[in-house]
Amino acid sequence: MAPSIPEKLALTAGRIRDCEQRYARLPGSVRLVAVSKTHPAESIRQAFAAGQHDFGENYLQEALDKMDTLAGLPLCWHFIGPIQSNKTRDIATRFDWVHSVDRERIARRLSEQRPADLEPLKVLLQVNISGEASKSGVAPEELANLAAAVAVLPGLKLCGLMAIPAPEADFEQQRQTFRRLADAAAALRDLGHAQCRELSMGMSADFEAAIAEGATIVRIGSDIFGPRADSNAPTA
Ligand SMILES: *Cc1c(COP(=O)(O)O)cnc(C)c1O
Repeated sequence: MAPSIPEKLALTAGRIRDCEQRYARLPGSVRLVAVSKTHPAESIRQAFAAGQHDFGENYLQEALDKMDTLAGLPLCWHFIGPIQSNKTRDIATRFDWVHSVDRERIARRLSEQRPADLEPLKVLLQVNISGEASKSGVAPEELANLAAAVAVLPGLKLCGLMAIPAPEADFEQQRQTFRRLADAAAALRDLGHAQCRELSMGMSADFEAAIAEGATIVRIGSDIFGPRADSNAPTA
């Protein structure tokens, strides 16, 4: 029988704890965001029952439907997909974190639309760390300017950086790319953004290299919930 969601969650959590040890990271310093896009609310409920609180979604309407179905569960929601400017209000209202801010205009809208009775929205800036390969993310040369603009917005709390590197099979190459994101965050801290401590990097195929390079958040979908209909992952 195929392993259940709680079993796959426990396996993934175990691999994360092993990596923390192997790479001299503090125990519990890596937060697991379970990426539930394309999977039903029932799968989220199963993961929650097994102790998982943080969930990542890419598609707004799908996420809102699941939030409504699961209203009442104390879940922490992370928006990790591309942001269209006509969708910012629901993101600002319903999510706790946004990992994919890559333009000042989007950041301004999220800040203006964040309800005043909620704490500032936790924001990560998405960096195009592999160059040409990805269309999303701010270019590394533009990062300092974007950080300066975001840091002063009252509805947002700038917490760190996120990246989705181009797929790469070699572990050392994976590490090198993640190291560039870690270096970019360190450079922002040197510029005075002392709170830029979160590094959202690593997915099912590369999270161990990301933890080796300082990931504080890993975003893992298929290892927990199984293959997606929209993915190229082998379905064997
Ligand atoms: C889908 C997705 C993930 C999870 O990918 P898996 O390979 O299924 O672990 C992580 N981050 C982002 C931004 C995603 O879109």
